[in-house]
Order: sequence, then C-alpha cells, then structure tokens
Amino acid sequence: MSPTDMRYWAFFAAKILGAGAFSYGALRLMQWAWPEQQQFIYSYPPRFGHDLGYTLGILLWFVLSWGLLYYCIWDQRYRCRVCLRKMRMPIVVGSWSRMLQMGRPEIEYICTYGHGKLNVSEVQISGKEHPEWKPQADMWDELAGVGSPGDGERRDG
Ligand SMILES: [Zn+2]
Repeated sequence: MSPTDMRYWAFFAAKILGAGAFSYGALRLMQWAWPEQQQFIYSYPPRFGHDLGYTLGILLWFVLSWGLLYYCIWDQRYRCRVCLRKMRMPIVVGSWSRMLQMGRPEIEYICTYGHGKLNVSEVQISGKEHPEWKPQADMWDELAGVGSPGDGERRDG
C-alpha cells in the first residue's frame, strides 16, 4: 500500500469515525433530553416501543445515521485518490447508440489538479460495477507547454 493510498483510506476511516461519533452523540443527547419513562401500573416499561415520540425519534436517528454512512461512502468514491479533492468537470464519453464503436457510455470526472480521472459507468451490464480510477502523470502538461511541439520546454511563470 502506497502512502497516498494510506492517506486516502485514513481519510475514509476518519470520516466514518466522525460520523459514528456524531450519531452516538445524537443518540445520547436524545436519551438524556427525553423525559423519563412514565409509570404504568406497577412497572416502568422501556421508552422504546412504548413512548410513541421517543420511538419515532429513534427511527429518525436510525435513518439519519444510515444516511450519514451512505454519504461517507458516496463522497469517498468521488474523491481524487492522490490529493483527496472532489472530482470535477463531469463529461459524457462513449455512446449509447454506438457502443461497439465509441465505447460504453460513461461519465468521466477529472481531478482539477491533474492527478487522474474517474470513469463512472452508465450501463451496468454485469452487475454493479465500481467506478474506474485512472492515475495520470500530469494531464495539464501539454496545455502548459510552450507553443511549438519542438520546444520541449515548459514555461515557468
Ligand atoms: Zn488530485
């Protein structure tokens, strides 16, 4: 595992930990702030399943926590593997009607700092496919180069 990979997954782990801490905190806060359970005949039934408001609150908390987890994974997928910035500038590549000629339709994102690109398939032929990340040396090199191709030198400022 290279250091950039480590950083990428460490960032993911930190995000998951942060989301977990947040949702745990939210649960504890709700348990603390909600009024104590009422006496029912001689017993104190648990609030969950007996107090409608509290049960609804737990339901909301559950949905919110799953949403947070889903967001963490979704967000990670669209980040540059090198600098962790969001992938930008989506364009459509390939063609629906000429798949054999121009390739399958995909949405291609790039890192604006030129570290690589991400191809997200539009058609999922063989089950769920994960987006493909392609690292690149520096995609802005040819644009930043000086006019004629013979020069071979880069302009510095
Ligand atoms: Zn990048």
